[in-house]
Amino acid sequence: MSELVISDLRASVGDKEILRGVSLTVRSGEVHAVMGPNGSGKSTLSHVITGRPGYTVTGGSVHLDGVDLLALPAWERAHAGLFLAMQYPTEVPGVSLESMLVESAVAAGRDASAVASAIRSEADQIGFDASLIDRPLNVDLSGGEKKRNETIQLAVLQPRIAILDEIDSGLDVDAMRAVTRRIESATNDTEPLGVLAITHYRRLFDELEPDHVHVFADGTIQKTGGPELAEELERTGYAEWVDPDATVETASAFDNPFGDTTFADALNLHEG
Ligand code: ADP
Ligand code: MG
Repeated sequence: MSELVISDLRASVGDKEILRGVSLTVRSGEVHAVMGPNGSGKSTLSHVITGRPGYTVTGGSVHLDGVDLLALPAWERAHAGLFLAMQYPTEVPGVSLESMLVESAVAAGRDASAVASAIRSEADQIGFDASLIDRPLNVDLSGGEKKRNETIQLAVLQPRIAILDEIDSGLDVDAMRAVTRRIESATNDTEPLGVLAITHYRRLFDELEPDHVHVFADGTIQKTGGPELAEELERTGYAEWVDPDATVETASAFDNPFGDTTFADALNLHEG
């Protein structure tokens, strides 16, 4: 059994504090939903836990099975059993999905001979076009294809804990069902996956059953409940947690590579 323990985590970009004390424990087999408005710091949370450069951790800790993740470079965090399905998956020209996963298996000291067939069977299961497997990683793939690609990586790598950052974005209903069904099944394996699933939408949880739902706003968890909280959020939106006086800075495209996050976006969340 594994355990990701996030304790009073605080982090900044430049002199702007984005994570303001996040505490959360994800155990094997559990699904934790993190739901909140745009610009609240959800992706920042995923990046800080997995070790993306550019953030300053100003307080708190993150441990995976007792290992201090914040002391490690990103690849060693992955080695410790952590996986991130990115909100905006990176295109990697010149590197195929298979090369990446074979090298990952080798680095983890695993048998890499089964990787190629595992990729094909996972792709088939979630409706990822087999002709795309040999393309450079994520290059020229549609949003939904990238999300399926992330899911294949997750299924083949078999991490202990996975963070899914808006894995539902870009997926149509059928693809969403296939992807979430696959992840739900990983949470029921003999070594069950623990999931921290970031999303705006309850529909992610039609197949993937959350044990705990957390409302995330203004850089911290504001409320925790069961699956019924996701239903409630679907009805009410996040207005209760969006401070009308807050100024969510719209950083320039140059210094905010993630950024479709504006205050207006947060308010218009349920119109789209
Ligand atoms: P969410 O995923 O909840 O939409 P993010 O974590 O992407 O929110 O962003 C939270 C806030 O932090 C936003 O105001 C965003 O502009 C800002 N931010 C995140 N990363 C950076 C960065 N690298 N540089 C500047 N601002 C950033
Ligand atoms: Mg985000």
